[in-house]
Amino acid sequence: MDTVDKLQALGTAAQFDVCGYCGGRTIPPSPDFPWRFIHRAALPGGGSVSLMKVLLTNACVNDCAYCVNQVGRDGPRYSFRPEELAKLFTTLYERRQVQGLFLSSAIAGSPSRTMESMIDTVAILRQRYRFPGYIHLKVLPGATFDCVAEACKMASRVSVNIEAPTAQHLARLSSGKDLATGILEPMRWVKKIVSSDEALVPAGQTTQFVVGAARETDQEIWHATQALYQEMGLRRVYFSAFHPVAGSRLEGPPTPPMRQHRLYQMDWLLRVYRFDPPELELALGKEGNLPLAKDPKLVIAQRQPWLFPADVNRASYEELLRVPGIGPVGAGRIVEARRDHSIDSLEQLKKMRVLTRRAVPFLWFQGMPASERQTSFLPQLESGTPAPEHVFLARVAS
Ligand code: SF4
Repeated sequence: MDTVDKLQALGTAAQFDVCGYCGGRTIPPSPDFPWRFIHRAALPGGGSVSLMKVLLTNACVNDCAYCVNQVGRDGPRYSFRPEELAKLFTTLYERRQVQGLFLSSAIAGSPSRTMESMIDTVAILRQRYRFPGYIHLKVLPGATFDCVAEACKMASRVSVNIEAPTAQHLARLSSGKDLATGILEPMRWVKKIVSSDEALVPAGQTTQFVVGAARETDQEIWHATQALYQEMGLRRVYFSAFHPVAGSRLEGPPTPPMRQHRLYQMDWLLRVYRFDPPELELALGKEGNLPLAKDPKLVIAQRQPWLFPADVNRASYEELLRVPGIGPVGAGRIVEARRDHSIDSLEQLKKMRVLTRRAVPFLWFQGMPASERQTSFLPQLESGTPAPEHVFLARVAS
């Protein structure tokens, strides 16, 4: 089999490999390349990059139930040699068809032996071909400390995929992966290695959950997500809705993409809006899941009616940020603008990037037309609304 055939097989396989999610979108096939292996990914500092997303091999000893590469599944198995893959990438890079590499792999034999081949590939790119650009390198579950340390020396970003929120959930999906020793331990190693030298792994460490594959709740995923940010210093946590793949062991309905989206909205409220973890809990329903039909920020607002309506001309930045329809840009512009003048019209708010249709029920300003003074959020309050002694109020007051 020649190199291009392997690229077709292992580039296509990487699209189904849930180990290999990197954020962004897959570039549709083109006349030059009638299969998918180029992925447009967002860069941590802004902008985006075209990544060649590929597996080193699709031969695997593991039996992850959601994966087409699982051991025992019929189908051809292919592997790149490190030199071969490095040369192929360099050719595509020089033709300006790709700008960076996302290298993942199934586990052929032992995790460390496979990782050594992945590291060899990256070493050839960095040292022989002097490739200076972005490389996202997977750390395979079960790899040794030495492999992880070598990966950290050469990669822009590394990731170990957690897949499920607890050991019990992971055991439902795979008999070959151990959460504590195979996944959390390498994450800790990355954290330790990176903290010893800030120049290493500039784009940080990430991970990913397969959402809905192990019958877990959003609450279980969410609690694990917060712990990962706090304890492992992760740059990002990704969520990938489970989708049954023909030929894999795990059948059943796919996870609604909206469930994935709601988890990303929670992640955004935590990382960008800096909502407190206890406040974010308000978004979860009684069964421990996020409502699919409603934005978590709206749910949180409706469960804290004592915070609203917020006075546009007096509310703090943090209080404005809790108004549905006002993001960090809008809240910042309101605070900035009212240093010069008071805000007394919806038109002014629209110009400040406020989504007034969403925000109006939660806002107030002097002279607000009576027709705009809605309280439509009040009837939607759920029973069991917590008392106003919520931790958020204490924080704002302090
Ligand atoms: S380790 Fe699991 S998810 Fe990764 S390629 Fe092997 S079977 Fe698939």
